[in-house]
Formats: sequence, structure tokens, C-alpha cells
Amino acid sequence: MQEQLRRTKIIATLGPATDAPGALKRLLAEGVNVVRLNLSHGSADDHRQRAAAVRAAAAELGNEVGVLADLQGPKIRIERFAAGPIQLEPNQPFTLDCRPDAPAGDATRVGVSYHDLWRDVKPADVLLLDDGLISLEVIDAADQQIRCSVLAGGRLSDRKGINRLGGGLTVAALSDKDRADIKLAAELDADFLAVSFVKTAADIEQARALLREAGGTAALVAKIERAEAIENLSEIVEVSDAVMVARGDLGVEIGDAELPGLQKKIIREALVQSRVVITATQMMQSMVESPIPTRAEVLDVANAVIDGTDAVMLSQETAAGKHPAMAVAAMRRVCLGAERQFEPTEDLSPGAHRLDRTDQAIALAAMFMAGQVGVRAIVALTESGATAQWLSRYRSTVPIYALSRNAAARRRMLLYRDVHPVEFDARGVGPTQAARDAIQHLFKLGFLAVEDRVIVTTGDHTGQHGGTNTLKLLKVGQGGVAEGLGDL
Ligand code: PGA
Ligand code: MN
Repeated sequence: MQEQLRRTKIIATLGPATDAPGALKRLLAEGVNVVRLNLSHGSADDHRQRAAAVRAAAAELGNEVGVLADLQGPKIRIERFAAGPIQLEPNQPFTLDCRPDAPAGDATRVGVSYHDLWRDVKPADVLLLDDGLISLEVIDAADQQIRCSVLAGGRLSDRKGINRLGGGLTVAALSDKDRADIKLAAELDADFLAVSFVKTAADIEQARALLREAGGTAALVAKIERAEAIENLSEIVEVSDAVMVARGDLGVEIGDAELPGLQKKIIREALVQSRVVITATQMMQSMVESPIPTRAEVLDVANAVIDGTDAVMLSQETAAGKHPAMAVAAMRRVCLGAERQFEPTEDLSPGAHRLDRTDQAIALAAMFMAGQVGVRAIVALTESGATAQWLSRYRSTVPIYALSRNAAARRRMLLYRDVHPVEFDARGVGPTQAARDAIQHLFKLGFLAVEDRVIVTTGDHTGQHGGTNTLKLLKVGQGGVAEGLGDL
């Protein structure tokens, strides 16, 4: 029997734990499709070194690996304490000092990175620190000071994040550091750029314009982690290439009880608009310490797969955990298990997905045919990867082999569920010969066998962008030579 092909893609965050000698190669060998450079931590040089190390390790392994650069975004943080972490007790007063020249903090007060915060909060607001571990109720906010009373206490250390329950803290989408990091992402030739704390579609458009200005070609990922992003979800999804269910900050702003429903809603919205979707944060959190995930984590990853996510993401588990490669192995195993339960329940009726382009219509027709006629695979001859993207928006029963000569397009396709990018140059021959050559190539690679039926999508002019307009149904003959089929 052929080895089960994994449909769901895995993103692993790099960090100190993957910098150890040999660690990165072990991590990638477990099946990472895309690595995340978390620009909230580390210097530009750290990220340059990591990106180079990833490319070297991937080349050594003969794998293609994508690079996702994740902007810090305008996260509001407390400043530092004079004498290390403090302990806060319920009902004690505590002041957030918004003055730019606020002194280092103590047990009664601390500075904040956003100096207009006092203008944006009002009495009875609840502020959450350190991803919700500590909560403060605002008593009053005036003269650059926010006087609070502690609701839930605990240990508070330097530079922890601040959110407001219910969201709505106004701060520009892209900080000065983000603007510099967009240039870094272009320099690193990142395949994906993730924008944090997106509020509106304009935030994504602005990031895209800055990236293109810097010469970057990355696809744009909108991180959905603010209450406002939920209100503007449809417009944000429309202008983005991909979205991330950023459950860490989203859970803090909206309340953890809303997360399961929102995860399903965001995934559905992405698929309806033919966009890619990543599910992220605390997926296997206990593996920061433990060599195996909890049952709850296994179910969480599996449920994200069943919800229809393209990719699942590891954060601390690989960046700072004790068992980075084992976390990837656990993710792979759980994805494969969930995919065995996977039911192709896709609704192919009119209106289930938006159709704006010819190649989208061809993709829909290919999926419809795949459901009616038993085929081994769908083969897309695709220059930009667009046809593969449209095909992968349906819950297919078969793998999609996406053949492109364009390395950047192949790396972008590494995030698409069910899509297996393969290097192939279709230029110089007509579409009929290109389809036959593609089948022979996949046969030689061992992906197709004699008697397999295959659907092929092509354009009139192979090697051109967005030209897919043709659907073929072929059979693999002796030696991988494609044959037409008469009777089904
Ligand atoms: P972060 O984003 O890891 O950059 O905070 C993901 C999240 O908030 O879930
Ligand atoms: Mn976040």
C-alpha cells in the first residue's frame, strides 16, 4: 500500500531550541512545511542566520520549506521593573503610568509602551496582562495615569502584553519596528508575511504596499486576534492571501469560551472566499515540557483538521520547548489520524464558493469530476499556483499534484491543504504534450501507477500565469504513457 500522504500542513516556529546544532535538520526531517520567524523576539541578524540555516538544511534534506516572517505588531506592553518581577494581590491598587519618562516600575506602578493608553480606557474597563493571567479593573484614567484595582493577582515581570477585555484599544496597525521588519522580510525573501493585530482591510493593504515597495513577493497573512478583526472579517479575508486563527491574543480579547465558535467561523469564511487558513497557538503547549501531548491537545489538533484548516502551527513547542522534533512528529501523527476520519462533504452546488475567474471554474469542475469518476490524483499544471489554490479549497478525496517551474510559487503552495508541489517545466511544448509529460514525470517519481486515472488541468499556453482553462481525464498506461479513456 502507498504511504498515506498528509493533507494538512505543519508550521514550526524557530527559536533558541531550534538553534542547537542538528536541531533544525531533525525538526525539518519530521515533516515541517513552513517555518515561522517570530519577529517579536531576536535581532535582525538572528533572523538572517535562521533563514539561511533553514535553506541550507532544506537543501541537504532535499525538501522544499517555506519561510513565514511574523511581524510583532503594535502590541501594547508594560515597561520594566526596577528590581525584578513583582507580586500583585487582589484588591490592591496598581497604576499604569503612561508618561514617556515614567520611572522603572515597583510594586505600586509601572510604565507602558503606548503613551496614549490613558485616553483609550475608562472606569470599569478590564485590562488583561500576560495573556490574561493577571487582570486589573480601571478606577480612573486621567493626566497620563491609569489607576486600577487588581482583580486577579499574580507574578508580573517586565514587558508583558496588555489587552482590554472586549478589545478596542486604538493604536496604529504598523509600528516603526514593523516597517523595518517588512524590509527585513523582503531582504530574507520570505514566502509569507504575517501581520499582527489587524483591525481592518486597510491594514493589510498598507503592509502589502510597503512590502512590494521593498521588493518583497511574500503572500500576506492576516492574524485574526482582535475583536475588531471579527467585525471586519469578510473584508480582511478578501484582501489577504491567508488568515491565521491567532488563538493566543484572540482568546484574551474575546474570552476563551468564544474561541471554538470563532475558529470554525474564521475557517469557513476563508474557505468560502478561497483563501488559505492557519490554526495557531497552544496546540501542543504541554510539549514545551513533556515528550507527549495531552489527550485534549490531540483532540484540539484533530478538530482543527476536521474544521478544514490548511495548516496547524507550533509556537513555543518548537521555539523554546524541550522536544521540538517530537512536537512536529506528534502533530504529523495526529493530522494523519484525523485525515483518516475525514469525510469529503464538500458542497459543490452553485454559490458555495465565489467564482470570479476561469481557473476557479475549472477547479470546481475538476473536483466535481473527481467525485463522480474514481481518480488517483488531480494534476495541475500551474505557473503561479493559483489553480492549486482553488482546487485545495474543496474537500477533495484525492491528492493534488501541482507542477510548476517557479520555486517561489511552489513554496507558497506548501501551505495549501492537499497540495503537493512538484518541480516541472512545461514550457516549449503544447498543452496536450505537457499533460502527457506531467503524467510520465509523476509516474517516474512513484506518485502514479499503471491503470491510475488522473484529472489534469492546463492552459492553452503552458508556462503562463492564470491561463488554466482545460480539463482532461486520462489513464496511466505502460511505462507511464498517458492514454485517453473511452468507457468509464
Ligand atoms: P503570536 O500570535 O504568537 O505572535 O502572539 C499568535 C496568537 O496570538 O495566537
Ligand atoms: Mn498574537
